[in-house]
Amino acid sequence: MLEIKSLVAAYGEITALHGLDLSIKKDSIVAILGGNGAGKTTLLKCISGLLKPKSGEITFAEKSLVGKEPEKIVALGLSHVPEGRLIFPSLTVRENLIMGGYLGTRHQINTGIEKVCAYFPILAEKLDQQGGTLSGGEQQMLAIARALVLTPKILLLDEPSMGVAPVIKDQIFEKLLAIHNQEKTTIVLVEQDADLALDVCQYAYVLETGRSVLEGTS
Ligand code: ATP
Repeated sequence: MLEIKSLVAAYGEITALHGLDLSIKKDSIVAILGGNGAGKTTLLKCISGLLKPKSGEITFAEKSLVGKEPEKIVALGLSHVPEGRLIFPSLTVRENLIMGGYLGTRHQINTGIEKVCAYFPILAEKLDQQGGTLSGGEQQMLAIARALVLTPKILLLDEPSMGVAPVIKDQIFEKLLAIHNQEKTTIVLVEQDADLALDVCQYAYVLETGRSVLEGTS
């Protein structure tokens, strides 16, 4: 479904990915593991068009994503939940969710919001509250929910457990599994909590300084 071949990405003089090969199958959960600076975030940024690779190929459903604008990539069905959540703190929960559906029709947005509120009932209770006043765990749920409003084919998740209390972490991962099972959403999960990620994924890659050093079933 998503194929990455010989991907090289750099920030100026610093090469962050050195010819990465990766294959994500439809309907799977694939974990990308690795320590700080391994290149995990860089990989997600390249997939979603936030960073242009130096070379290599990224194909999704046989279309090349390289050089495409991020909004075109979203329209193809790839949603990115960035590291650190990056919700709009001054907008309400409802307005954040509407932003997640900005490419859809009003009807699609309304049904999408209803659907994500069923997955995350706490958000339904706080639709008129400012995003920035939610707890860390609730903000993470909002960031995931915002990415799901238009039912993406692939969800790219960057460290959903970061800065979240253990009990909320478990709740978030339970919801992710439910979403994967019910919506058939393919998930690419970047995580530092390897135990948690290996519990939910079927396949994993381990990155080290921009290279894949290990891959296999969970
Ligand atoms: P972490 O788990 O700490 O988020 P990561 O595996 O996601 O790490 P990346 O953020 O992809 O790693 O970083 C890969 C390399 O690229 C690191 O050496 C990092 O310092 C460098 N890098 C990342 N972003 C930038 C940037 N904006 N400018 C310069 N170098 C960067």
